[in-house]
Parts: sequence; structure tokens; C-alpha cells
Amino acid sequence: MKVAIIGAGVAGAAAVKTILEENHQGLINHVDVFEDRKQLGVGSPYEPDSNQLLMNSYVGDLGFEWQDADHYLRWLQDHYPEYARRDIFSPRPIFGEYIQDYFSPYFEDEIIHVVHQRIHQLKIKSPKSYYLYDAQGKQYGPYDSVLMTVGHPPYADYYNLLGQEGYIHHPYPVEQLLSDLDYQKGIGIIGSGLTGIDIMRYLQDHYPITIDHPVTFYILDQPFSTPKFERYAEDLVFNLNADWIDKQLAQSDGQTIPLEAIFHQFEEDMEANGVDWKSLVERYSQGSIGEGLMAIHQQNRRLSILQLYGRKLTAFLPALNMALSSQDRIRFFKDFMGLFEHFRSQTPAESIAFILQGLKDGRIRIVSGMKAVEVNAQGFTVVTQKGLRYQSGYLINATGFDQNLETAAQHDPLINQMYQEGIIQANPLGGILVDWPHTQVLSQRFGRLEHLYLTGHWIFSTQFGNNNTKLTYKQAEACVKHLLESSRDI
Ligand SMILES: Cc1cc2nc3c(=O)[nH]c(=O)nc-3n(C[C@H](O)[C@H](O)[C@H](O)COP(=O)(O)OP(=O)(O)OC[C@H]3O[C@@H](n4cnc5c(N)ncnc54)[C@H](O)[C@@H]3O)c2cc1C
Repeated sequence: MKVAIIGAGVAGAAAVKTILEENHQGLINHVDVFEDRKQLGVGSPYEPDSNQLLMNSYVGDLGFEWQDADHYLRWLQDHYPEYARRDIFSPRPIFGEYIQDYFSPYFEDEIIHVVHQRIHQLKIKSPKSYYLYDAQGKQYGPYDSVLMTVGHPPYADYYNLLGQEGYIHHPYPVEQLLSDLDYQKGIGIIGSGLTGIDIMRYLQDHYPITIDHPVTFYILDQPFSTPKFERYAEDLVFNLNADWIDKQLAQSDGQTIPLEAIFHQFEEDMEANGVDWKSLVERYSQGSIGEGLMAIHQQNRRLSILQLYGRKLTAFLPALNMALSSQDRIRFFKDFMGLFEHFRSQTPAESIAFILQGLKDGRIRIVSGMKAVEVNAQGFTVVTQKGLRYQSGYLINATGFDQNLETAAQHDPLINQMYQEGIIQANPLGGILVDWPHTQVLSQRFGRLEHLYLTGHWIFSTQFGNNNTKLTYKQAEACVKHLLESSRDI
């Protein structure tokens, strides 16, 4: 079989590794990997850039050897001993170097062929016969299977600023895109999530940011997700695991688990852990500056337990999500996801402390209630719900990915061609529709596209919670295993 892998970030590299480890019968004899980056396995999040950009997972929770939790730690001891501690956050580019080291032997194998090109088109000639075309129109294929490990959708452009001078839509690599700003004109960051905080850290390191020339965060509502202080909560009671899911599915019609049953188990676990989760929600669900201050001051142990529970739950979120009825899934995404993600996507306490200190010194300003942006000769005027107006020479986008396929596709030639030709279609909850658990593309025009796999943030509404290295890796691995198993049957 001839296989193509589009994109060599963590997912593409995991696919390469799994092929080499699982292809015992030699079913796959040729693999083309398309990636225009020089570094393989790294992708956009961990590309070479400023060391001010930090991982949001602890050193001790990273790495790809599931049986050897200290694999990354030992690599740091050899290469960057200053970061070799389990309970700190290491720079993203350094994690990128680790990834490259980790995966590089697999790219040396004789059946793996790296093509440093971006793919702009995918065509289907007949079932399981896929052709690819690069930007120059050169044809590759036919392939029996294609793994689209293409990463995340383009960034969202909520204020229609793309192309305006002074607007930085895609902020990475910060060392290339943000190193030459005239900071005296005023710099604004739209959004105060992890990306916004990363950017602030870089700006402060690079420019003389003072009370006279502060950086402003323009946000919709409140600035922070919950702060993360500690890595462990010993003896955590945690039952929402794979066994629980299997048991529930066996007890019901074998198809779905009611949202209420999941919620009920969560409540029981919280009670067993001695955590009154409702009072935590009351106290920490706003994400306000006051809450940030309180959380830093109190270092609330119960909040840590709830957060650890959320981090543990991440591994099981895709299975739980896909075990819900469609009605419950829509209910969860519409009514509960905001609050759920507020507690699950945690901001390192150091980052919150860093922002609070900046606010105290006047180096940072937070403007909430952002409503619109007007473009003018000096740059931009940000208008708030209350009608207040703020001038900024630059606006840096940190609002996250565009989950709307219709608009996002316009910024990605491959996704656009596949969308226009009906090969992919939108998931009503965001991103692209795939089957589960194999994540093969579902098309209104072609039905299920056998052995055409898609991973990454485009399938977040199916593989819910996959914005982390482990789930990304695991899905690519699952796709390859499915390809090999289903090809053996033929
Ligand atoms: C800014 C940022 C920070 C993050 N921080 C963390 C973190 O701290 N911890 C964590 O666990 N997760 C983090 N993540 C989540 C991250 O998305 C996953 O951990 C994982 O790296 C995603 O891997 P991927 O292979 O799916 O995508 P990517 O790493 O984005 O790789 C996709 C690759 O596909 C290539 N590609 C795309 N389209 C084409 C095409 N048409 N032709 C050829 N090649 C193509 C791209 O060049 C890219 O190299 C972060 C994500 C972002 C965006």
C-alpha cells in the first residue's frame, strides 16, 4: 500500500512512528510525508521562537513514552538542565527540539519519503485512490490512504482586520512578527488567553514597556481561566474512566450515555474527594482580576483537586463526547462548554501573577467589553460596549482558531478545495465532520471516505479536548492501526 501523510507536526510524526512499529506484515511499502517546514515532528506550536513562549503542561506531564514519565525530564537534564524540573513550564521551542530528537530516527527509514511541499488539492479518482497536488500543480499518487495531520484551523478574524496595516493576524513566530514594532504607537492584544499572555511576556522582554507606554489587552468579558498551582493531588477519586464508560454503554442500549449520568458520577467523585464543586464555581467562574488575586492568595487546595480531575478527564473526553446522544452533545456544547473549559483550560498561576504585577505597575491595561474596531490613519480605535474608545497603533490577534469551516476554509487552499468540491463538510458544532473512533472524513457527496483520515483541532467537536500533545498523538496512532487492521481483512 502507498500512503500519504499531509503535515509533519506531532500527529504526522506519530503516524510515521506507528506505521514503522505496526506494519509487521509489510502491508505499507511506501509513505510520502508532505511538510514544508525543515523541522519534522514539530509543527507550528513548537517551532523555533522566543523562549518566553511556555508550554502550558508541566515538564513532568510531557513526553511520548507513556511507560516512562520522565523521558522529557531526562532529555532536559542532558540538554537544558536549567529547565529539568517536573513541576515547571518549559519553553515551547525547547519542547520542539525534544520532539525533533525523539521522532528523527523514524523519518530515516527507507519506506518514509519526505517531500518539502505544501499540498493544495486532494482528488478522489475511485474509492481508496487519492491523488494530491502541490502549489505548482504537481501530481502525487495514487495513494491507498491519506492521513491529513494538518494541525489547526486558521486564526479567527472576528473584527475583519485581515490585511490592515498594523494588524498582526497570526502572531507566531513572535521573534519574526513582533520584533520590529514601534511600541510608542501603542500595542494592543485582542484576547487574554494563553496566547495573549505568551505575547505579553515576549513584548515585555523585548521592549521597554512602562506606565507611559503600556500594552493593552482588549477582551470581551473577564481576563482569566482558572489558575493552576500544583501538579499533584494525592489519592484523587476518579471514576469517569474507560471502564466506567464501557460499563455504562453495556447497561444502556449500547449506544449512548445520558449527560446526566456523567454529571452524576462527577458529583459523586467530587463528594468523595471532599470538594464542594458548586462553591468553587461560585467563587472562581468569572475569571475576573479579583478572582485571580484571590486564587493566588489562597492557593485553594480544593480548586487544585477539581483542576486535576479536569486534567485527568481530558484523556476520556473524546469517548464521553461521542457516547452522548446528539441532543445531549448539542446541549453540552451550547450550555456547559464555556464553564467546563474555564476550569479545564488552566492558566499557570505564574502567568496570572505576571499579569497582575503588570497591572499594578501600570505596564499592562485591561479593557473589557470590546465591541468593534475602527481603522484610521493612526491605526485602530477599539470601541467598547459602553461606547468608550481606545487608540492603538498595533493590534495583535490572540483570539484563537476559526471553527467555522465556511470562513476558515478561505485561508487554507487544501481545505478550501476539499470544501468547495464537497469532499469535506462542516460539523454543525464546529470544524469538519469525521466518523468516530477512526476519524475518517464524512462527505455528503462521497459518503464515508475510507482510509482518508483527519486529525487535530479541525475535529475538536468529535475528538473533544484534543488540544494537547497526547490526544493528538493517540489519534494519529489510532488512524494508522485502523488502516492496517482494516486492510488485513481484505
Ligand atoms: C500556539 C499553540 C500552543 C500550544 N501549546 C500547547 C501546550 O503547551 N501543550 C499541549 O499539550 N498542546 C499545546 N498546543 C496544542 C497543539 O495543537 C498540539 O499539542 C499538537 O502540537 C498539534 O499537533 P498537530 O500535528 O495536530 O498540528 P501541528 O503541530 O500544527 O502540525 C501540523 C503540520 O501540518 C503542516 N501542514 C498543514 N497543512 C499542510 C498542507 N496543506 N500541506 C503540507 N503540510 C501541511 C503544517 O506545516 C504543520 O507543520 C498548542 C497549540 C498552539 C497552536
